[in-house]
Amino acid sequence: MSPKYRRVLLKLSGEALMGDMPYGIDPKIVQAFASEITQVIRAGVQIAIVVGGGNIFRGMKGAAAGMDRATADYIGMIATVMNAMTLQDALEQMEIPTRVQTAIAMQEVAEPYIRRRAMRHLEKGRVVIFGAGSGNPFFTTDTTAALRAAEIDAEVIFKATKVDGVYDDDPRKNPQARRYKSLTYTHALTHNLAVMDSTAIALCKDNNIPIIVFSLNEPGNICRALLGESIGTIVGGSCEIS
Ligand code: UDP
Repeated sequence: MSPKYRRVLLKLSGEALMGDMPYGIDPKIVQAFASEITQVIRAGVQIAIVVGGGNIFRGMKGAAAGMDRATADYIGMIATVMNAMTLQDALEQMEIPTRVQTAIAMQEVAEPYIRRRAMRHLEKGRVVIFGAGSGNPFFTTDTTAALRAAEIDAEVIFKATKVDGVYDDDPRKNPQARRYKSLTYTHALTHNLAVMDSTAIALCKDNNIPIIVFSLNEPGNICRALLGESIGTIVGGSCEIS
């Protein structure tokens, strides 16, 4: 069976990489993700990845502790590059060709972000990992995911989280919370549902890019989702409870 998508963007939060650790990177988790990504790329799907940095540093936290917000955000962006390089290493150990492109130039360790070059890498079957967010403070890696997806013409964004989709209330606090099978961008925005930040959702809405939110807790889910199995919640359809 041929895969459902030709080109996808996977958003991995920094927190996803730390597994059960309180901070940093769990190499076993990164290897597990890399092995799933390997299966997807071997099925012929072009994959771009945006990684977060929350496992290492978050600008907002730094600012809350008295740092200059822009400086703290730049540190957060640099943190994402460590994650990007870690993921690159894990993929290359599995013999998958990759490129890291950063929005802040770090030419000794990664290519600078060049849209056309990124697209060429994807066409050649290389996994492109975008580091350093958008290169701008006051943004997030979710917004970066929406921006890069639009730029590289990705058909869909996969947002890997700790929850198995989008609920109408916090399922950890409210056992009656209902999970959406799908919902509109506007519904996610007006109800402030935990999908992505509002800038990211608005960008996806304007560019008609669906966001599929799914859980990383179940091994194999990256593979299932990216190969087109219907799991999690899709933002960008009509409102439907599952
Ligand atoms: N960041 C930024 N601009 C961007 C992307 C990220 O300033 O375009 C900074 C911001 O401080 C953020 C940090 O990088 O807190 C790490 O990214 P994020 O919090 O989005 O990571 P995640 O929550 O996905 O782990």
